[in-house]
Amino acid sequence: MNDLARVPESAVGYVFRTEPSDKAWAYIGQSTRLDVAHINCYFGSGAFMTEVIAKSGTSGLTKTIVATAESPLELHYLEMLHIAEARRDGVRVGNGDFGGPRPFPNLQRALWEVAPGVMRVASDPKRFYDALVKHRDQVEQAILDSSSVPFDAFYAGMERDLRATEDLSHPCPSCGSDIGVVCRTNSKSLTKPQNPTRNHAKRPRS
Ligand SMILES: [Zn+2]
Repeated sequence: MNDLARVPESAVGYVFRTEPSDKAWAYIGQSTRLDVAHINCYFGSGAFMTEVIAKSGTSGLTKTIVATAESPLELHYLEMLHIAEARRDGVRVGNGDFGGPRPFPNLQRALWEVAPGVMRVASDPKRFYDALVKHRDQVEQAILDSSSVPFDAFYAGMERDLRATEDLSHPCPSCGSDIGVVCRTNSKSLTKPQNPTRNHAKRPRS
């Protein structure tokens, strides 16, 4: 397999799906190692994959790159999304948890804190997947709260990117950001962090 052509230059990592030939199960993982050798021979390192490989080796396995990410945050989010999607589709998923940053209890705690609506439906695969899609901002906040992404550097880069890609020619009625200023999360809260974010849906575009 040579999937390297599918990983753009700007990517920091990718999400993959490993399956046996009879597709009896799937394992979804992430990696930030982008050298060809590693992409070709890395099938996952969680407890489930370690056991599979110890028992039967890797020769019957197929690995597919299902997404690439431009930041560690996006990588965690997309891994969670693809695990949830496989569960929604009724696939027997080898992953033991939601994916995303480790350790898992920290992520769970952060999700309860900032995205309780997502956690409340966590046992229902269809609703959980829909909630991850609908509440992406909250889920990403939880990922940041529970991971070791260096916040200041991360947000500085994110704000720079948003300034280049978002239409900032009108003020935002949702968070109050002015012309030329990126949208902010939690603008109405006195205690929660107000971080740069993509344009809110109600912000007019030119
Ligand atoms: Zn806004």
